[in-house]
Amino acid sequence: MPRRSPRPARIRSLALAAAVLAASALTACSANAAEGPGRDDGRPVVLTTFTVLADMARNVAGEHLRVESITKPGAEIHGYEPTPSDVRRAVEAELILDNGLGLEAWFEQFVADLDVPHAVVSEGVEPIPIADDAHAGMPNPHAWMSPHSAQTYVDNMVAAFSELDPEHAADYTANGEAYGAELQRVHDELTAKLSDLPEQQRALVTCEGAFSYLARDTGLTERYIWAVNAEQQATPQQIAGTIDFVRQNDVPAVFCESTVSDKPMRQVVESTDAEFGGVLYVDSLSEADGPVPSYLELIRHDAQLIADGLTGGDA
Ligand SMILES: [Zn+2]
Repeated sequence: MPRRSPRPARIRSLALAAAVLAASALTACSANAAEGPGRDDGRPVVLTTFTVLADMARNVAGEHLRVESITKPGAEIHGYEPTPSDVRRAVEAELILDNGLGLEAWFEQFVADLDVPHAVVSEGVEPIPIADDAHAGMPNPHAWMSPHSAQTYVDNMVAAFSELDPEHAADYTANGEAYGAELQRVHDELTAKLSDLPEQQRALVTCEGAFSYLARDTGLTERYIWAVNAEQQATPQQIAGTIDFVRQNDVPAVFCESTVSDKPMRQVVESTDAEFGGVLYVDSLSEADGPVPSYLELIRHDAQLIADGLTGGDA
C-alpha cells in the first residue's frame, strides 16, 4: 500500500493549509515517537470523533483498517475544540466517522474545509427529542447508550468500510454480525438487570441528560441536572429542581458522568437522603487500564452501578 502524506490539495482553505503545515512541522520534531496515533503502518486510516465510536469501529474493521479517535479517553466531546494536529490527522485519513444528532458541535465546521469522505454513524436511528432547556426539541445525541441503536451504528460502519475497501467487504459484514451478537447479549443483560427493579426504585438521576435511550430500553424514568454538556451547566434552578425531584421520589442514589464535574450532584446529595451512586460512563471510554476500556464494558459497568445504587446493592 502506498505511503500516505499530508495532501494540501484536500484542504479547501489557505488558513487551514497553513495550520496543517504548522502541525506537520511540530510532528516532524517528534517523529521518533514510534508508538502513538501518528505512526503509519500502511493500513487505511479511519478517524472517529470519540473513543466509543473508535472501539465499535475497531470491532468492525478487524485488522484491515487503522481506527483512531480525535478526542482522548476522558475528554469532553460536545464542546471540544480541534487542534491543528487534529486537522492534519483528518486530512491524512481515508474516512471520518462522526456520531451526528448534534453531538459534535464542532464537527460541521471541522469537516467543511476538508475533502475527506465522512459517514454519520447514527443515520437511521429514531432520535429521542431533548425534553427541555436550551436544546428542547432537538435530538438527544446519546443514541449509542442503547445497544439496539448501536446496531445501526455498526450497520453504517459495515457499509462505510465496505465502500472504502471493497476487497474486504465480506470480512466487515462478518465482523459486524459477530459484534451484533455481542450487542444483543449486552442488551439482554442490561434489560434483565434494570427492567425488573421495583416501581419505587426506577428513577435514574444523572448530571447530563445522556440516558434517554438507555432509560427507554429499560423502562427507567430519566431525570438530570442539565440536558446537554454544551450548554450552561448546573444553574441554581436546575440544582433546586433536581433536589425537589429526589426528595419527592425518595430516590436512593444519584450519579454523575465521567467527563464532567460531579460537584453539582454532590450538592444534591448534601441536600437530600440520596447517596452518590458513582461515576457513569457515556461520552468517553476509560483508559485501557480503567473500568470501561470498551463499549460493551461501558454498558455492563453502568447497568451494574445503576442497579446497585437503586437497590442498595441487592441487584
Ligand atoms: Zn454527552
